[in-house]
Parts: sequence; C-alpha cells; structure tokens
Amino acid sequence: MTEITVQPGIMDIALYVSGESKLAGREDVLKLSSNENPLGCSPRAAEAFRASSAELHRYPGTDHAGLRAAIAEVHGLEAERIICGVGSDEVLQFIVQAYAGPGDEIISTEHGFSMYPILARMVGASPVIVPEAERRVDPQAIQAAVTERTRVVFIANPANPTGTMLTEDELESLAAGLPAHVLLVHDGAYAEFVEGFDGGAGLVRRHPNVVMTRTFSKIHGLGGLRIGWGYASREIIDVLNRVRQPFNLSNAQMAAAEAAIRDTAFTRTCAELNARMRARMRDSLRQMGLGCDESFANFVLARFESAEMAGAADAALREDGILVRRVTGYGLPEALRITVGDEAGVTRVLESLRRFMDARR
Ligand code: PMP
Repeated sequence: MTEITVQPGIMDIALYVSGESKLAGREDVLKLSSNENPLGCSPRAAEAFRASSAELHRYPGTDHAGLRAAIAEVHGLEAERIICGVGSDEVLQFIVQAYAGPGDEIISTEHGFSMYPILARMVGASPVIVPEAERRVDPQAIQAAVTERTRVVFIANPANPTGTMLTEDELESLAAGLPAHVLLVHDGAYAEFVEGFDGGAGLVRRHPNVVMTRTFSKIHGLGGLRIGWGYASREIIDVLNRVRQPFNLSNAQMAAAEAAIRDTAFTRTCAELNARMRARMRDSLRQMGLGCDESFANFVLARFESAEMAGAADAALREDGILVRRVTGYGLPEALRITVGDEAGVTRVLESLRRFMDARR
C-alpha cells in the first residue's frame, strides 16, 4: 500500500471522454464525433509541417514570436498580448493554474464544455455549475452565482455542445457586470464559424478582466497537432507565461500553425462550406421532426423525443458506419451532437437518420 497522498479534488475528476474514431470491423467509418474539419488542414500547413522535419534536432524558440506575429497580423491584434499553448486546453490550464486554487470557485454552465470542471478540480478549486436557459448560457444566472470566492467564469461562444451563442450585447453586459476579482474566459474555439465575429477580441480590449481563447483544432483542421492561443491584457499574458513551460510548442506545431493561419483563402472556404452544410442539416433535421436549435458552430445538436430514442438513433448510425457524439454527460441525454461534414458526409448522415426516423413511425 502506498502512502503517497493524492491532492484534494484529483480523485473527483471525471475523466474526459473524447469522440470515438473507430468502429470494429469497418473501413468506411464516417467520423462526425469530434468537430473536426471535413476538408482537413490547409495544404500549406501540411507542407510547413513536413519541412519542419529538417529541424528535428533543434530546440524550438520559447517565445513563439513567428506564430504570434502571424496571429496578430491576420486577426489585427497586438502580438505582445498573445500566448500560445498545446491546444486551447493548455491555455485554459494556464488560467486556472495562475488564478485559482483550493477553496476557490470556478463557474461554468449547465451544458458547458466538460473540460471546465475538470480544470477547476485539477487545481483544487470547486466547480460551480449554473443553469442555462433553453440550452443557452444565461448571463443573469452567472451573475447570481458569483461569490467572494469566484475566481474564473468559463463560457464558450459559440458553445459546445449546444452550438448556441450570446449576442454581443449580452456578452458586453456580462463582462461589465462581473466584479473586479473575477476573470471571464471567453472561449472562442468555434468563433471562425460565425461570420463577422471577432471571437471576443473587442471584449478583451474593453474589459481588463477578460481572456479570449482560440484553437487551431477546428477551422484550421489541426486537431492532431495540438495548438491553441489566448489574447488578454499584457498583465494577464505576463502572468500566464510564468506557468507555461518554455518549450511547450514544437517547431512542427508552430510552423504548421503559422502557415494555416496565413492561408486565409482556405479558412474562408471552410467557413463557407460549413455554413451551407449546417443550414442543410438544420433544415433536414427539423423536417424529420427532430429538435435543432440554430447552431453557430461546426456541429448541430439533434434532439429526439427521449434519451431512449437518441440511443437507438446512435445505434442505427453506427450500423451504417457513422460515429456521432452522445452528450449524456453534458446533461443532454436526448440529443446527439453531429459534426457538420462535407457534401457527401452530410448526405450520408442525413440519409441514415431519415431511414431510422421512417422505421420508427
Ligand atoms: N473549448 C471548446 C468549447 C471545445 O469544444 C474544445 C475542443 N473540444 C476546446 C476548447 C479545446 O480544443 P483544443 O484543445 O483542441 O484547442
């Protein structure tokens, strides 16, 4: 028996469940379970990744200068106010490490991204989960839940897995209404799928207590490489850099990410395809009699009459070689989250679902 003590809260962490990628005995799997880009990544990013293999023996730069400059240029931001991490997950981790600890509270919402309570527990803080209003973040419920001990509020906008979004006005009043000891994290993992949305950059400029996080995993199709970034005040970035490991990003990650973000034509193509296919999925799901809120992300949430029916639909999709995401752990047992695919993928998943619905009539 070991007498090594585990830190408080660690054993309460529910392990993160990721989208499945394989179905036993099938070669033709359509994976719509992890909100990946159906077009993959920019060919320029893949080329930069390959070229980086000439430098495998070299340590990467510690300040991510080239990548931060590229992000700053493309998004019209100041490079000194950007921090990069191993996925946006790592940037979120820097935030809790630097700003929360035992006895503190971290707020996230009813159907919010499952990493938020995990991150709270990682640092011994208590996750506080506030209700949503009809699968939408409720700014008033967040305000009401804030206490002296609240350190961080996490919201994703658009949100995962609901796909819903707060308006700019709602965001503004949420940020303005939080007391000065609370940091608001605006997670913009899906921001590029919303036409004309700055992902929360303006919010960061107007409010010193807001951090925006972003990712290369979604629209840039680099989930396998793990790159994310954050934008905040110089003071906050200075704090976060103190808990970041100096060599957290490899040469390969930085090279691919820089090429990806500079390929704005590819990004635009992906956003346009997503918007078209997402509208098609929404219309078809509604025609089938399923619930489907307006989604602002690269997935839709299909709601069935019951959890039993969602489970049966999931099983029927698997029979057809299609993997989507059950979101029971997000308090949505009656729903399936389906990543928006390309034309062929969307046709295949809609046909499979239609067969299922017809057979249930
Ligand atoms: N935030 C949200 C809302 C997400 O859905 C995800 C990916 N599932 C992440 C952050 C983390 O993404 P990554 O670490 O790949 O950047």
